[in-house]
Amino acid sequence: MNKPNILLIYTGGTIGMVKDSNTGTLKAFNFDNLLMSIPELRLLDCNIETISFEKAIDSSNMNPKYWCIIADMIKDNYENFDGFVVLHGSDTMSYSASALSFMLENLTKPVIFTGSQLPIGDLRTDAKENLITSIQLASLHEKGVPVIREVGLYFEYKLYRGNRTTKINAEHFEAFESLNYPHLAESGVYLNINNKFLLKPNLGEELKVNKGFDTNVAILKLFPGISKPILEAVLRSRLIKGLILETYGSGNATTETWFIDLLEAAIKRGIYIVNVTQCSGGRVNMGQYETSSQLKKIGIISGRDLTSEAAITKLMYLIGQNINPLAFKAIFETSLRGELS
Ligand code: ASP
Repeated sequence: MNKPNILLIYTGGTIGMVKDSNTGTLKAFNFDNLLMSIPELRLLDCNIETISFEKAIDSSNMNPKYWCIIADMIKDNYENFDGFVVLHGSDTMSYSASALSFMLENLTKPVIFTGSQLPIGDLRTDAKENLITSIQLASLHEKGVPVIREVGLYFEYKLYRGNRTTKINAEHFEAFESLNYPHLAESGVYLNINNKFLLKPNLGEELKVNKGFDTNVAILKLFPGISKPILEAVLRSRLIKGLILETYGSGNATTETWFIDLLEAAIKRGIYIVNVTQCSGGRVNMGQYETSSQLKKIGIISGRDLTSEAAITKLMYLIGQNINPLAFKAIFETSLRGELS
C-alpha cells in the first residue's frame, strides 16, 4: 500500500497557542507556525496535509456549529484521506469527540482528537508526543483496512474511545480518563492496540453525516438541598426539551413527593429526562434502591454508564434527529457508537 494520507484539522486550543508578550495570556497563533515547530513530522511514514478553522478558537467557545464544520471537513475529504487527526483544546474535547461520534454514521476510518496541556513551543510541552502518536495511530493499516474505525481521543500515551472520555485534570499531562471502558491503545516502547475493544463497523456502508443538534437541553446536578422553585424554573422553561439529571451513586435521588411530581409532569409534557450518575465511574441501575425505583416508574431514561459529555451530546443529537417520541427512550438506551454498555 502507498503511504497513508492523513488530514490534520486544526481547530485551536493550547497546542497552537503562544503567550501574548503584553498581557501574558495564551492566545491562538497561525497554524503554519505549528508545523514549523515540529520538523519531526516530516519523518513520519505518511503524507500529511493540514486544514484549519478560519479563526482558531479556545475550545471553551466550542458549539454545535463548529461540530458541523469539523464534520464537513471530514466528509469533504473522506475519499482522499486514510485518517483524520483533529487538534482541539482539551477543555471541551470530550464533548466534541462524543458529538462527532454520533454525527459520523458508518465511519470506517480513524478520527483521532488530540491536543495538549502546554503549548507546542514550550520546552516541556506534551504536544509533540500527542500529535506524533495520534498521526501514527491514524495511519495504522492492516491488509489495506484502517485499524481504528471510530472517533478516538489520544492524550498522554493512551488512546480512548472519544465518547467514553472525561477531562479529569486541569494541570496533569494525564488529563483524560475513560472509567467505564478500557483504553483502545497504549503507547510505550511499542504501540499496543487493544484489538478486542475497538469498534468493528460494517465496512460496506457509506459514511453519513447527521447534522442538526437541538440545544434546548440542560444538565442538572443534584445536591442535598436542591429546591422546588429551582427545579420548577428549569422544567417549566418554555424551551426545554431534554434534561440530563446527574443523580447520586447508582442513579438515586430524593424521594420527596414534590421532586418526583415535577419530573413526572415534565415527562408527561414530552420532556426527555435522562438519569446519569454524578460518580466518575460505574452505572445507573434504577430500581436497585428505593431511592431510584420511582424514577424508573415515571419513565425516566436510563443513561446507564454514559459520561455526562456523551449523554448531553446524544440528547442534543437525538432530539435534533426528530426521533419518534415513542421510540426515543429505547433508542437513547441503545449503544449507537459504543458509548454505553
Ligand atoms: N483552554 C484550552 C482549550 O480548551 C485548554 C487546552 O487546550 O487544553 O482550548
